Amino acid sequence: MASPIPFDNSYARLPQRFYARVPPTPVAAPRLLRLNRALALELGLDPDWLEGPEGTAMLAGNRVAEGSEPIAAAYAGHQFGQFVPQLGDGRAILLGEVVDGAGRRRDIQLKGSGPTPFSRRGDGRAALGPVLREYLVSEAMAALGIPTTRALAAVATGERVVRETLLPGAVITRVAASHIRVGTFQYFAARGDAEALRALADHVLDRHYPDCAGSEAPYRALLAEVAGRQADLVARWLLVGFIHGVMNTDNMSVAGETIDYGPCAFMDAYDPRTVFSSIDQRGRYAYANQPQIALWNLTRLAEALLPLLAEDETRAVAEAEAALAAFAPRFEAAYRGGLARKLGLGEAREGDAALAQDLLSQMAENQADFTLTFRNLCAAAEESGADEAVRSLFVDPTAFDRWAVRWRERLAQDGQDSAARAAAMRAVNPAFIPRNHRVEAMIEAAVEREDLGPFDELLAVLSRPYDDQPALARYAEAPASGGVGYRTFC
Ligand code: AMP
Ligand code: MG
Ligand code: MG
Repeated sequence: MASPIPFDNSYARLPQRFYARVPPTPVAAPRLLRLNRALALELGLDPDWLEGPEGTAMLAGNRVAEGSEPIAAAYAGHQFGQFVPQLGDGRAILLGEVVDGAGRRRDIQLKGSGPTPFSRRGDGRAALGPVLREYLVSEAMAALGIPTTRALAAVATGERVVRETLLPGAVITRVAASHIRVGTFQYFAARGDAEALRALADHVLDRHYPDCAGSEAPYRALLAEVAGRQADLVARWLLVGFIHGVMNTDNMSVAGETIDYGPCAFMDAYDPRTVFSSIDQRGRYAYANQPQIALWNLTRLAEALLPLLAEDETRAVAEAEAALAAFAPRFEAAYRGGLARKLGLGEAREGDAALAQDLLSQMAENQADFTLTFRNLCAAAEESGADEAVRSLFVDPTAFDRWAVRWRERLAQDGQDSAARAAAMRAVNPAFIPRNHRVEAMIEAAVEREDLGPFDELLAVLSRPYDDQPALARYAEAPASGGVGYRTFC
């Protein structure tokens, strides 16, 4: 099929053992549900072509466009701490890569496009609900300014997928800087394939970390930079109340993007122990565990890279440890700095971290909504009479009052104009996040009634998360229950 997409497939040029060449499996009755036209334009793709019959056929996996070299990537991974030597793309197929207008290379991948040699017992398919969920939440993350894979399109397949019940099927087109994971390195390391490991590391250096490529110890620099980006990313998650839910090493991108939207969800009432995923029974991937899990995963990456770090193993371990040492300070700086900005604090001062921590402790004790507390704090920073909207979020509002006295003393030390401060706070404290009850209602409308109206409205509101949108203020509201008991599924 002729296509106007200028595919350039660098991953498919890597050795054959990196992937399986496998075309998507056609579906019965493809119907384009939504196309992300703005993203298509950003990628230099023609949205009209994508919406037409040929584009839709490509996005459904029914036709392979010219220049596309469909592959399923091989990878391994630690799932909930257990190493699985072979996972791989079991229901995802990389169509190819494009270089966008800004010179950035991006993967275009279908998910839910049929079985591959890595499917194990899975059917290679995806259900409509999770597809719309990934589309919405990944686009919301992008609008929040957090590095993430993007959603280019959702297509209904006209087929049913078998889960606990029969569900309508769909395919999502995902766009990513790449889909190379910690688990991709582990796959080759576990096989003792040093040649592949080096080829992969060189590919990642060239593609994601060109500044490291020229350094005197490029693989060590690579590990330190991956750790740094991951530290920044997890700090960003914490600062918006995001819980990834399944931080297995195969779900951690070495490019530093949020990837694999399965059981993820945003916290309503603040509780650092929050877990939503039904399969995370021990809370391994709870909200507050995310930084230490990221470091655990990076340590697995470091182990995989050992053969490249030095010939002598003791030396290699020392190099790895030195590189991983970048993680903690980078995370602390990103998280503490981010909290300070959320509170409207200027130049860092002694006691800032404790002030922030005390607010979080009071929020946890008083079941205060995470997003609303910080958003409503913006108005409280501007006018002293505006406290009610924050304090009323606390079971005991006087807990907030006591903290606010100290907060205002601290703000006074900055001498910043209060309107400017409030504006800066509004730019980091979103009014709108994908509230779980809204996401569920959106999915129900789409699946039960084929009504994408709620999807469109929610997507529109979430595309401007930092703007007050008074007509849509209901989307900022917390669920009546505080969100307790919400469960997500892979
Ligand atoms: P995840 O938990 O989404 O990271 O997936 C873990 C592994 O299971 C990956 O190798 C996926 O490709 C595979 N997988 C998940 N769902 C399916 C499915 N429906 N069919 C085939 N493979 C799947
Ligand atoms: Mg995965
Ligand atoms: Mg998944």
